[in-house]
Amino acid sequence: MSAVKPSLIERIIRDDVRAMGAYHVPDAHGLVKLDAMENPYLLPPALRAELSARLGEVALNRYPVPSSDALRARLQAVMQVPAGMDVLLGNGSDEIISMLSLAAAKPGAKVLAPVPGFVMYAMSAQFAGLGFVGVPLRADFTLDRDAMLAAMAEHQPAIIYLAYPNNPTGNLFDEADMEAILRAADGAVCQSLVVVDEAYQPFAQQSWMPRLADFGNLLVMRTVSKLGLAGIRLGYVAGAPEWLAQLDKVRPPYNVNVLTEAAALFALEHVAVLDEQAARLRAERANLVAALQALPGVTVFPSAANFLLLRVPDGAQIFDRVLARKVLIKNVGKMHPLLANCLRVTVSTPEENAQFLEAFRASLQD
Ligand SMILES: *Cc1c(COP(=O)(O)O)cnc(C)c1O
Repeated sequence: MSAVKPSLIERIIRDDVRAMGAYHVPDAHGLVKLDAMENPYLLPPALRAELSARLGEVALNRYPVPSSDALRARLQAVMQVPAGMDVLLGNGSDEIISMLSLAAAKPGAKVLAPVPGFVMYAMSAQFAGLGFVGVPLRADFTLDRDAMLAAMAEHQPAIIYLAYPNNPTGNLFDEADMEAILRAADGAVCQSLVVVDEAYQPFAQQSWMPRLADFGNLLVMRTVSKLGLAGIRLGYVAGAPEWLAQLDKVRPPYNVNVLTEAAALFALEHVAVLDEQAARLRAERANLVAALQALPGVTVFPSAANFLLLRVPDGAQIFDRVLARKVLIKNVGKMHPLLANCLRVTVSTPEENAQFLEAFRASLQD
């Protein structure tokens, strides 16, 4: 055995990578897991049996068809991708964000997004050597249109991300603000690709997908994760074939494996089941909002997603107390100054929501 020399690691691994902490996923064993925006519902037993038979037929000895034609065609139909637009698949939308960064990583290129926002935009930019510009939202988490336009003029970003709705704030940005950004990014202020991230579309029911043809600099990104298939890792981005043909060059050739493809095709044949689950979660979201709003000292921010952002007097303390009662939520208070004392909780089944409410109520009173 020969020991690994720290000096060798230092020589090989980038300084910024060595300085990073690993992406921390907390252990949820034995806890009610409300930290990751997962859909709590499985497919019904009969469908699961049918799915396992289907997966048993998959030729695991063969590489996937590199372009995943069947799945792309099905997504295009089910998700109403406009005619003339194409779809590119990723191993989760996280991988699509990586592909965008890689493809756009010219020297000095930057990614711009409102903050607080989805952390992968900044992380992926850093990995690929792109600069990241975070433009603070207003205190009520609405888009600061003027600040966005000023930052776009100053930094001339290659890519602008707008999450619709935004994570971790849960709100939908104003459409007119977004349209102003799209138009300004189309040459008036800068020349940028605008990626609208619709990870929570099943809960928002509003989309820029129908407007793809109106903007030559727009891509719409989605995922099946929050719809109830987080485990299969499948994201997709829709847009003009000219854009997607470029992204396709940096896509790892077999990035969507045969089991994911088969499971996704199956789920899309039964998408009504997933849609019904999303409808139940939207109804539960309304119930949870009403219950939380009745609690003194708690601010509930408007949400078009399957999670709620809450502000409490002492976020870290309430998080610990809720955890001690075996419910795992997310303390986002340290993510950004605008999120001071904020907690994020996934909307789940009536039973799990009740468990959370009970733990949360008791934690406020300790
Ligand atoms: C969860 C999430 C994603 C990542 O989705 P995956 O497809 O699971 O990688 C992307 N964007 C936002 C805003 C998210 O919250």
